[in-house]
Amino acid sequence: MLPTRRHTNTVSIGSIKIGGSEPVRIQSMLTSDTTNVESCIEEIARLDAVDCEIIRLTVPNQKSIDSLPAIRTEMKKRGIERPLVADIHFNPQLAVNVCEFVEKVRINPGNYVDRKKFEVREYTDLQYQEELERVEEKLLPLIQNLKKYGCALRIGTNHGSLSDRLMNRFGDSPEGMVESAMEFLRILRKHNFEDTVLSMKSSNPLVMIESYRQLVRVMDDENMHYPLHLGVTEAGNELDGRIKSAVGIGALLCDGFGDTIRVSLTEPSENEIPVARSILQSTRSRIFNADFISCPSCGRTFFDLESTTEQIKVHTSHLKGVKIAVMGCIVNGPGEMADADFGYVGAAPGKINLFHGKTCKERNVPAEQAVERLIDLIKENGKWVDPA
Ligand code: SF4
Repeated sequence: MLPTRRHTNTVSIGSIKIGGSEPVRIQSMLTSDTTNVESCIEEIARLDAVDCEIIRLTVPNQKSIDSLPAIRTEMKKRGIERPLVADIHFNPQLAVNVCEFVEKVRINPGNYVDRKKFEVREYTDLQYQEELERVEEKLLPLIQNLKKYGCALRIGTNHGSLSDRLMNRFGDSPEGMVESAMEFLRILRKHNFEDTVLSMKSSNPLVMIESYRQLVRVMDDENMHYPLHLGVTEAGNELDGRIKSAVGIGALLCDGFGDTIRVSLTEPSENEIPVARSILQSTRSRIFNADFISCPSCGRTFFDLESTTEQIKVHTSHLKGVKIAVMGCIVNGPGEMADADFGYVGAAPGKINLFHGKTCKERNVPAEQAVERLIDLIKENGKWVDPA
């Protein structure tokens, strides 16, 4: 049986919801300096244009917080209504101060309270407990402001930035990452704060996949159902960055995990969005356009598969959720079309058979008329909509 999506709580990020039965949301992060309002706005506009649903920006100092009202005003002027997320490291006071200006705050549990000293030492249970009490003390003002301003929180754990306390007890391992998040999560729950999302990022997809899987097991054991933000951090660029992200994020989506994703590329942020969409579509986690099944072609192929597939895509890719198979021959074609709604299959040189489901509806259509006839067949079966 195919895995179903993991049940999670719904968390509101301003006007957008994450988790539950909401679509898996796509987000990105600005590369602009947050104090450069003009640069931020231009980048936000580019992300908005490609339908990025949630936008994160870095907040390393108070000056960055002071820029947020101007960014928001300019967004409003341009009619852009995307939730903003503040990314905070090292400084708990900034997290407290920024709640008023954003819809979500991301903190890193590895550096929220503890400055890393890379100390190697044994922690007694008492010392460990005392450190946790210090974490709780530092989280309380944040919890208060998150509640006051209706702001959500992401506990964003990163492989490689665990606290000394966790490094000494668990090492830089998936177990350590999970415990790092769980320490914070238990405190948040104790103080009745539930609008939490979690991430377990690593640049190594194997570590990242294992960490999320372990986190889900531990949360299930503690009856916690918080949504997950998936991402492979520092994935790189071009083909490698895309494949690495697809492997890490895709594997977890196939498990049924994930409520929002960020593809992290060393490229302009808007380049991340089509990749994210493609990962979601390929894992059938969220459907944006038509799904194409096409064979790789071989010596049996009866037509130019590459150009024909491209031509069919141009005309039909806007048909959200419709599955179209383009197969080079009838030998293996119909059987391998899987669950396609429509099929375009080579029957003989220059001749095409057209299918609706597994039924052949038209035989030996001349190739030069076949794309048009395929569109007619889609229309006759009520699956056509005009492109926007
Ligand atoms: S469907 Fe036919 S043409 Fe395409 S790869 Fe298979 S055998 Fe070759």
